[in-house]
Amino acid sequence: MSEVTQLRADIIIKGAGPVGLSFANLLGTYGIKTLVLEQNATTVEEPRAIGLDVESGRALQAMGLEKITAPDMIHGFELDYLNAKGDTILDLEINASPYGRAQMSSFIQPIFEQQLCDGTNRFDCVDVCFNHRVDQITQTNDEAIATGVTSDGTPFEARAKYLVGCGGGKSLVRKTIGIKMLGYSNPQPWLVIDTIDPGLDNGVGVRFFCDPARPAMTMKKAHKHRRWEWMLHPDEVHEDFLDQSRIDALLAPHTDPSQVTMLRKCIYSFNSIVAEHYRQGRLFLAGDAAHMMPPFAGQGMNSGIRDAVNLSWKLAAVIKGDADPALLDSYEKERRKHVVALTKIANRLGSIIMPTQKWRAALRDIVLKTMTRFAVTKELLRSSFLVAPKLAGGGFVTSGPGSSARSGEMIIQPNVTNAKGASGMLDDFLSPGFVVLGIGHDPSIELSPEALEICHTLNAQLVKVSTANEPTSATSDAVQLCDADGALEKWRGDSPAIILLRPDRFVGVTFAQENAVAALSNFTEHMKGRT
Ligand SMILES: Cc1cc2nc3c(=O)[nH]c(=O)nc-3n(C[C@H](O)[C@H](O)[C@H](O)COP(=O)(O)OP(=O)(O)OC[C@H]3O[C@@H](n4cnc5c(N)ncnc54)[C@H](O)[C@@H]3O)c2cc1C
Repeated sequence: MSEVTQLRADIIIKGAGPVGLSFANLLGTYGIKTLVLEQNATTVEEPRAIGLDVESGRALQAMGLEKITAPDMIHGFELDYLNAKGDTILDLEINASPYGRAQMSSFIQPIFEQQLCDGTNRFDCVDVCFNHRVDQITQTNDEAIATGVTSDGTPFEARAKYLVGCGGGKSLVRKTIGIKMLGYSNPQPWLVIDTIDPGLDNGVGVRFFCDPARPAMTMKKAHKHRRWEWMLHPDEVHEDFLDQSRIDALLAPHTDPSQVTMLRKCIYSFNSIVAEHYRQGRLFLAGDAAHMMPPFAGQGMNSGIRDAVNLSWKLAAVIKGDADPALLDSYEKERRKHVVALTKIANRLGSIIMPTQKWRAALRDIVLKTMTRFAVTKELLRSSFLVAPKLAGGGFVTSGPGSSARSGEMIIQPNVTNAKGASGMLDDFLSPGFVVLGIGHDPSIELSPEALEICHTLNAQLVKVSTANEPTSATSDAVQLCDADGALEKWRGDSPAIILLRPDRFVGVTFAQENAVAALSNFTEHMKGRT
């Protein structure tokens, strides 16, 4: 019998899907020794997810991969819903956002995953091990242990301080720790195809066909790629729809099927399920292992990337000894509620598309057409389809000193210039860790030594953002940025002008000079899970 290969890291990531690879890049950025164990020989060759949202776009920026991934995406869309007659019943713009990224971009999953995987090569501290199937997971007081076998039959044993299960819906970690999925599975099957279609390259971006006879959707991707999805009826023989002649008949009203190259065809049904808990001891769940939702809001993978953004900096802080391990409890508190809300939105969008009774479809058409006629109701409709980048609970100061409406919100990302005149987006000038950012105030000059000591303990970068380029004070230690349009000043509204940003770019606490110590101390107590 082969000798057992021993592997060791600070963090084990089980699964090299988009979520596991996002963890690997973020942990690499924080300098954490990370081991990714993936049973397959390569990243995926077939696309599943197609829409990347604004928060994932910002996460790619944090990973330093946005310039590499951007050319293979389409950034921003006009999205519409047509009724059976072809009339528009709802149209939404999902283009620019205040967060410095398109509201939604389409991407090609195999290219994207390969780029994420290549991105990990920049980090000596990250190892991605393909052909490593994990068969068993255990934990002790001090370690998480994954054992398994490589594709050539060599057994391995990997040990780390923590393990994140990113193994997809069938999650071995979830089963090992006996965490239940709550929710329901939707037996409604859909035919999903991915194509290359030069004839439709100038065609519609995202369109939902709300035809009760055959609900469907299409989305354009880069390099002439296109996704189509059609709902199948219970009385149909679903496998028949994988037949090329059936697919050509479905495509024919929209394009010339003879020009279309088929990349993938499959039949899916979707779940609306969320894990009861996201953690047990040293084991965590993330991505599809923790939640699955229908694709109508394009949020399954995006929610997983949010998990990676939320948990990776916390793991890094705990591993480096900069934070109390209690901080890790805030992961479930902050992420689970958000995913439940998104799952409801995905189902609400599905209920617009999916009615198959004519009367229900007619009622839907009247309601949506009426609502889109007036600016106020249209905006109401638009906002009910989007979840604002705002989190609650956990490590945000929402009561006591420093609480404000901005706590838990992702900061906007305007274009700024630095003292040398270089321009870029806000995050381009921020450190990957904590940032204390004064809007019109210089934290390095205005905060007391006691408050600065707390900033120092957090390794926080000090930044002053002004609306005009001002001469830098000789006594300032802050990075000076100019936000000429005053976007940050408008965004903060009535909230205090000094903001403690967490590494995930969410606002931890806001404060004025006079209550800085109380507010910063309150935040550090939240970080220890003591509030
Ligand atoms: C038709 C369809 C359309 C979708 N559209 C969108 C969309 O537009 N936007 C969006 O955000 N999401 C979308 N999704 C959802 C999205 O595809 C998933 O949420 C996402 O792929 C989950 O990523 P993951 O990394 O968590 O899991 P996965 O992608 O499933 O990756 C898990 C990895 O873990 C590995 N693994 C599993 N078990 C083991 C083991 N024992 N040992 C080692 N490795 C293991 C697997 O081989 C795999 O590589 C869609 C899904 C479908 C089906």
